[in-house]
Amino acid sequence: MSAVAASVTREVVPPQVPSLPRWPEAPEPVDSDGTSFLVVAVGGGPAAGDVARAWTDQAEGVGPTTLVVLETIDDKADRASFETVLARTCTGVRVMVVGGQYDVLQVLSLLRRAGALENEVRSFVTDRTEIPVFCAHCQTTFRASTGPGGLTPCPSCRRTLEVHEHLAALRGSFLASDAEATSL
Ligand SMILES: [Zn+2]
Repeated sequence: MSAVAASVTREVVPPQVPSLPRWPEAPEPVDSDGTSFLVVAVGGGPAAGDVARAWTDQAEGVGPTTLVVLETIDDKADRASFETVLARTCTGVRVMVVGGQYDVLQVLSLLRRAGALENEVRSFVTDRTEIPVFCAHCQTTFRASTGPGGLTPCPSCRRTLEVHEHLAALRGSFLASDAEATSL
């Protein structure tokens, strides 16, 4: 009887349908329907700076453009500057985000939670070595040098986690759960 109860209460992990980010092969052009532009470069090395400059040059030919350069969205001061600039944006703004995969996914999550629509946001990743991982057990989100299908230790609860092929878009992170528990 206890075995039945356990199977009923068990979470459905991993999710049945894979959901992976689809990054464009090259930076998309600036959306000329925009009335103003916010270009965000966050981590991602010199290549991200090049893309941000090219976007800024293009956007300035269409409307008022703000360029924000951040080290990482995890830094308190960087995050505060991003949120200040975002709060000043108006209807019709187009937001373009370029940088490392971890930071881009986290910034996209902040934009979605702020109400940005998919067609108002463009993104490009110049470095895919790190991803945001969400631990299903202790609910911690952390930066990991792995990919979907990989293993990583949780820095908070110390479990060895398997990263699932599932990006929770609103949370901006990949779902991960105990690598040993999934085989039970
Ligand atoms: Zn954990």
